[in-house]
Amino acid sequence: NKQILLVSRPQGMPSENNFKLVEGPLSIPQEGEMLVRILYVSVDPYMRGRMNDAKSYVPPYPLNEVVNSGVVGQVVESRTSEFQTGDIVSGYLGWQTYAVAKPRQVKKVDVSLAPMTTALGVLGMPGLTAYFGLLDIGRPSQGETLVVSGAAGAVGMIVGQIGKIMGCRVVGIAGSDRKKEYLINELGFDAVINYKTAANLKNDLKEACPGGVDIYFDNVGSGISDAVLSLLNFQARIPLCGQIALYNLEKPDIGPRIQTQLLINSALMKGFIVGNYADRFHEAMPQLAQWIKDGRLKYKESIVEGFENIPKAFLGLFTGENLGKQLVKVSDL
Ligand code: NDP
Repeated sequence: NKQILLVSRPQGMPSENNFKLVEGPLSIPQEGEMLVRILYVSVDPYMRGRMNDAKSYVPPYPLNEVVNSGVVGQVVESRTSEFQTGDIVSGYLGWQTYAVAKPRQVKKVDVSLAPMTTALGVLGMPGLTAYFGLLDIGRPSQGETLVVSGAAGAVGMIVGQIGKIMGCRVVGIAGSDRKKEYLINELGFDAVINYKTAANLKNDLKEACPGGVDIYFDNVGSGISDAVLSLLNFQARIPLCGQIALYNLEKPDIGPRIQTQLLINSALMKGFIVGNYADRFHEAMPQLAQWIKDGRLKYKESIVEGFENIPKAFLGLFTGENLGKQLVKVSDL
């Protein structure tokens, strides 16, 4: 059983040296448990926060233990009546090739609905984040302008498309021309700004949002958000989803104080964690699946092959390697 451990806490940008690949003990399920062969591993930006020894909404990863993350796998031995050998399941079982799981740790993936990888993306945590953050906090309505940062990532891409379904003008901010073209040509975004090449982000945004900004779905923070917040409309809504531009900073990032922008526009900024909506996931799943079926919601995955490449795929989130949801394929079905 191959496993990847967190062996040191990153200072600033993480590196492969923070992780170690080891041959772990053989996993043997006890009565009431099952053995799962991991097929796909998810790497997600929030995992960076768990690598720090700091208080947050989830506890830090312990050192020298398997890094926990979402996975999809197949039950290869079941000692519980709730799951059968052959079932495809998803859950937080971590960076390892085999895991022992209890029934409450996993859910069955309905592969007749969509490919199993979607359980880690559009029909999993990122899709639910986009759905509830945008609809519950952003409250989009026809004709409004929605700006989304981190637009070409797992969450951002779904936010923009739901915004289009709701009748918004959708403006994305992303880090390459390839991403920009994909969002405009394949997903129907109205405009996308490449923040890495923009000479003046605020001017470009102003041009892309002639009616101002009604909703800003923030995945990124920092100077990108400062530019967007300067264009808020009266009673704008800002779902505060992520701050990836800050996750690797060693010193705090101090920009213009934004409170005045919120005050003068009677705007609402609300942080949220997708888990806050756990009792409403059952509402979102059929709707997301229906939009996919109707061709109104597309999803994109970047899949790296090979267990040993998991840390590299994780690091790539901070340099923008991924288009859509970043996954690692660990094994064939
Ligand atoms: P993504 O798939 O969007 O991957 C991360 C992307 O962020 C990269 O591809 C990169 O794209 C961009 N990025 C990385 N560093 C920077 C930077 N310094 N400045 C600007 N952009 C950067 O990840 P997710 O969709 O999974 O997550 C998006 C955000 O949502 C994250 O902040 C995450 O923490 C948050 N999140 C919050 C949840 C919640 O419950 N509140 C749940 C899930 C995610 P580019 O090429 O455009 O730079």
